[in-house]
Amino acid sequence: MTGIIRGLEELPGRMEPYERLTDDVVEECDVCVIGSGAAGAVLANKLAHAGRSVVLLERGGYYEGEDMNQRDEDMVPLLWKNGGINFTDDLRIAIGQGCCLGGSTVINDAVCFPIPEIVADQWTGLGVEISMLEWSDAIKEVSDQIHVTPLAESELNRNSRMLRTGCELLGFKNHSMNSRNCIGCMQCGLCHLGCHYETKQDMRVTYIHRALSDPGSDVRVYVNCTAGRITHADGVVDGVEGSFLDSSGRSVYKIKVNARALVLSAGSIASSQMLISNSIAPGVAGRGLALHPFPCILGEFQFEVRGNQGIPMAYALHDFGVTNGVADGGFLVEGIYLPPLQFAMYFPETDLQKLELMRRYDHYAMAGVLVRDDQNGIVSVTDSGSARVSYSPGAKELDSMARGAAVIAKMWFAQGATRVITSHLAKRVLNRVEEIGDLERAIRNDPKNLLLGSAHPQGGNRMGSDRSRCVVDSDCRVYGFRNLFVCDASVFPTALGVNPQLTVMSLATITAERLTEKWKDISHEG
Ligand SMILES: Cc1cc2nc3c(=O)[nH]c(=O)nc-3n(C[C@H](O)[C@H](O)[C@H](O)COP(=O)(O)OP(=O)(O)OC[C@H]3O[C@@H](n4cnc5c(N)ncnc54)[C@H](O)[C@@H]3O)c2cc1C
Repeated sequence: MTGIIRGLEELPGRMEPYERLTDDVVEECDVCVIGSGAAGAVLANKLAHAGRSVVLLERGGYYEGEDMNQRDEDMVPLLWKNGGINFTDDLRIAIGQGCCLGGSTVINDAVCFPIPEIVADQWTGLGVEISMLEWSDAIKEVSDQIHVTPLAESELNRNSRMLRTGCELLGFKNHSMNSRNCIGCMQCGLCHLGCHYETKQDMRVTYIHRALSDPGSDVRVYVNCTAGRITHADGVVDGVEGSFLDSSGRSVYKIKVNARALVLSAGSIASSQMLISNSIAPGVAGRGLALHPFPCILGEFQFEVRGNQGIPMAYALHDFGVTNGVADGGFLVEGIYLPPLQFAMYFPETDLQKLELMRRYDHYAMAGVLVRDDQNGIVSVTDSGSARVSYSPGAKELDSMARGAAVIAKMWFAQGATRVITSHLAKRVLNRVEEIGDLERAIRNDPKNLLLGSAHPQGGNRMGSDRSRCVVDSDCRVYGFRNLFVCDASVFPTALGVNPQLTVMSLATITAERLTEKWKDISHEG
């Protein structure tokens, strides 16, 4: 038997077996996994491989490279959560998350960092019983599955090389090329729009594809399917109900999955939203969200940098970060370039200035500050059932942003930038290196005028031993439940300080193994 994907759309000529639904669905399985991203795909694959029957529910659609036409006005609505219109409640931080088969791994930059040892130790101190050996084994397994490979010199574009030169000119010690999960990257620079060439080893082309093609596995995948009500009583879940929604949000069919165990892998924010909506872990779920807030700084040059051509995120400066032993807070400086629409949204320009900004799209160097933040955020649910994210950076985060922005501005001026453009409304342009202090002060004293992006929401359903502030134990099992699990970035007890996908996949690897070992206890079988 091989697996199958079912959904609402007519999709001829797909790589995977696919059927269009014509009616409501009732399913029976051992494990129902909600969400097919970095965690859900690994769990579904490994649990099926271990002999469990698995139903995987994914809110987004099933799209392949052919569908990914490299135009951001088409791809952001298709592949991004809420069509890319996803902000904190004060509209100051745009939060990027995927909504499609494969989740955020389909639209991410493919950068891979293992969990820093210092963070794994901090988590142990918070009651997370996962040894460094377990992390290392899982990282190795995942890295093999998704082909994590160090970048070669020939894969650095001019933007990345300018970040490296900036590090050298300013005398930094710890900076290097990243590793990525790609095979034969075409370097089109459009990772955020899905990989047209399917060289990115995202969850759809790796774990999901292998689960579906393994003749020994029983995996049934439903796309366009939003899971909603969790049916539970006395700490035991018996299943979940959901709806198949068409592109206008209309419910076309219903689904009921009767499952012996349920794993929520809907990602940060959505997993908290589901718990809160189902009155599970009240007062605890939704607390402690971190965002890795990420201000970007442009340097404008007389020559063409062409940062949009080549691998967008290939080089990083570690001197100030957790990867250089900074235990509390800190930041990485990461090279990045954005497709035109996202680029235009990041910088607070008037219409005319924006035209001028975009005309010079080829002439900028760009880098951002990945801030290891405290868990300042809260997820709540509005009366209409939507998730609301409240988040304000504190003094520590603002200090990291100010220092990181200053480092980048210095790097660009040191290489002859004619001006530096920031994502701060009140201090938009720096014309001279002497103005960098003004930018630092503006960020510290006037944070409301700072526009930020976040691609790494984490936390909200913390893992740990303190049941008064944590949602799950070290097996990702929800406190007070026998067979309900949350496994995704939402269970991180602190912000990670590095790009999170490899850690999420490793956690799912460990969780799948623990769930398999403890299956009798979880399912109450025999
Ligand atoms: C633009 C961008 C760039 C990034 N770049 C990198 C990078 O280079 N390196 C890195 O390490 N990390 C990167 N990340 C972050 C990384 O991809 C995520 O941290 C990781 O994928 C999170 O895994 P997850 O399983 O928690 O959630 P996701 O991968 O987001 O998966 C959650 C899935 O659940 C689905 N879902 C939600 N609610 C429901 C529901 N009710 N019913 C059914 N399904 C539901 C969603 O549609 C989604 O597909 C990036 C993210 C973005 C957005």
